Amino acid sequence: MTRTVYVNGEYLPEGDAKISIFDRGFLMADAVYEVTSVLGGKLIDFQGHAVRLKRSLDELEMAAPCTKEELLAIHRKLVEVNEIDEGLVYLQVTRGSDGDRDFVFPSDDTPPSIVLFTQAKPGLADSPAAKKGAKIISIEDIRWGRRDIKTVQLLYPSMGKMMAKKAGCDDAWLVEDGHVTEGTSNNAYFVKDGVIVTRPLSNDILHGITRKAVLRMAAEAQLKIEERLFTIEEAQGADEAFTTSASAFVMPVVEIDGVALGDGAPGPIAKRLREIYLDESLKAAI
Ligand code: PLP
Repeated sequence: MTRTVYVNGEYLPEGDAKISIFDRGFLMADAVYEVTSVLGGKLIDFQGHAVRLKRSLDELEMAAPCTKEELLAIHRKLVEVNEIDEGLVYLQVTRGSDGDRDFVFPSDDTPPSIVLFTQAKPGLADSPAAKKGAKIISIEDIRWGRRDIKTVQLLYPSMGKMMAKKAGCDDAWLVEDGHVTEGTSNNAYFVKDGVIVTRPLSNDILHGITRKAVLRMAAEAQLKIEERLFTIEEAQGADEAFTTSASAFVMPVVEIDGVALGDGAPGPIAKRLREIYLDESLKAAI
């Protein structure tokens, strides 16, 4: 089926959607994005994504292409016309183009570009990968210093994912100054003696929408949380580990750099948090 996508105010068949070759998103990765999951045809945590989008735009002094209400209407229309039951909506905003390439930002009256499209992901909630758990390798974190801004500079995370695949694993955790920052496209956690440990928020990691929700739900379930720096060795000695992201929810981790965690199967806390997250998110979906 040909998808309908949204480009700068128009709903178009995907083959007719066009962006200028001078667009700064294309030439300079001068762009931010959001990914919102869809379950049962409804948007998961749309508000969280809209708030973070605004923050990313503000941090880069980039104009907002439309209001939050308009964004919601575009998301909903794309989900409806593309008949998405389980999947996601990808949104990207770039600084646009004034018709040439220049390191200097274009003038303030240059309109931003906005693109949205859907991806169908049948079986997203009942994922076989989550039942198996993920095997992780660790790699050096050589990304830029503003990882709190959700930019489209995804080459290194993409290379990290490929390094993991080549090593027969599923994903990579990034390590800076001896401490884990986050996963290639998720936030990282381990559990030891019932305590959930994850890195505190700073410019070093993306402020995950799922991280916020899962930590809130974990606290409500009376689970102990410690936000602090941790090493790969500490995580390898954990009872269990997991990652969180809007597109994979809570994903158990069963192995880190060849060391199996616990009994090598998804741990009880990761499984429980995945259930709670899916349950509560579905109830609150719009
Ligand atoms: N960290 C990084 C580097 C990411 O790319 C992502 C998601 O894409 C996350 C964390 C998780 O964020 P969220 O839960 O908002 O999807």
